[in-house]
Amino acid sequence: MIVRCNAERDNELEWSLHRNCADALPLLSGRLNQFLSGMLRPIHQLLARTGDSCLACGKRISVEVPGYPELCLTCYASIPWIIDPRCPVCGRHVGCPDCSRGGDIQRPLVMNRSSVAYNAAMRQWLALYKYRGHEAYSAVLARMMGRALEQMKKELGLRGAFFDAVTFVPLSEERWGERGFNQAEELARGAALAGGNRGRSLPLLHLLARVRHTGKQSFKSRNERLKSMQGVFQALPHAAEQLGRIILRPGRVRIDQEKGIRLLLVDDVYTTGSTMNACAAVLQHSCAELGYCGEIYGLTWARS
Ligand SMILES: [Zn+2]
Ligand SMILES: [Zn+2]
Repeated sequence: MIVRCNAERDNELEWSLHRNCADALPLLSGRLNQFLSGMLRPIHQLLARTGDSCLACGKRISVEVPGYPELCLTCYASIPWIIDPRCPVCGRHVGCPDCSRGGDIQRPLVMNRSSVAYNAAMRQWLALYKYRGHEAYSAVLARMMGRALEQMKKELGLRGAFFDAVTFVPLSEERWGERGFNQAEELARGAALAGGNRGRSLPLLHLLARVRHTGKQSFKSRNERLKSMQGVFQALPHAAEQLGRIILRPGRVRIDQEKGIRLLLVDDVYTTGSTMNACAAVLQHSCAELGYCGEIYGLTWARS
């Protein structure tokens, strides 16, 4: 069940969000429209109703942003999209020492791309959605996933539906019980829609379970995080069967690498990559059990 938030506290948060937006108001060029219509193409099915006031700052919307009727132009323009990732591995927008580090760190993930940089405003949007149950953010954030996917496909020179299926980082049962929804699953729904072909979504599969809590990750060092992820995720009992069905589905054309299963793994935020890589390792193992090589690509809403 989604807990609705207290209106007074909302006002407080919305006001501070508005301050963030106003500070970051970038230049709005004539190319904005062209840029917007290009990137919002497959996402219309997730459109929420047009509101009179902006979801983020609460101000009245005077100009409707194509594809984002919930946001005012100022808030939309303040979204820190990652347009040109600096790190080809994890999609980070700033210099990235993590991916060039050697050693015995396992990185089963082929690559990761994220829609936005995790700045203060984005942190607040996610918090309102994830912890405060501000449901209206669900569709907006899910729609934003299309951007990262387009970025990835552009970089890889891909057209059409490239992935066999989309899956997501699971919550523990305890967290699920508290929250009533898994934000990663909702974001994965947006990615499945954006990654499909001719209006058809990619299959969205529930393949993983979180069997152990890791405690607050944000206070841990990178190495501590990587270590603490061991044994946290497991494949669900029906994972192999679901993957098997994907491989055998009629019309699956894979000329380049017939023995591979390409999965898109979705989460809300990529920080060190330890969660995503731990999940990718489990998924690879499930694919290997079927005699297939698992190519796991990461897609997150934000990159910190
Ligand atoms: Zn606004
Ligand atoms: Zn990197």
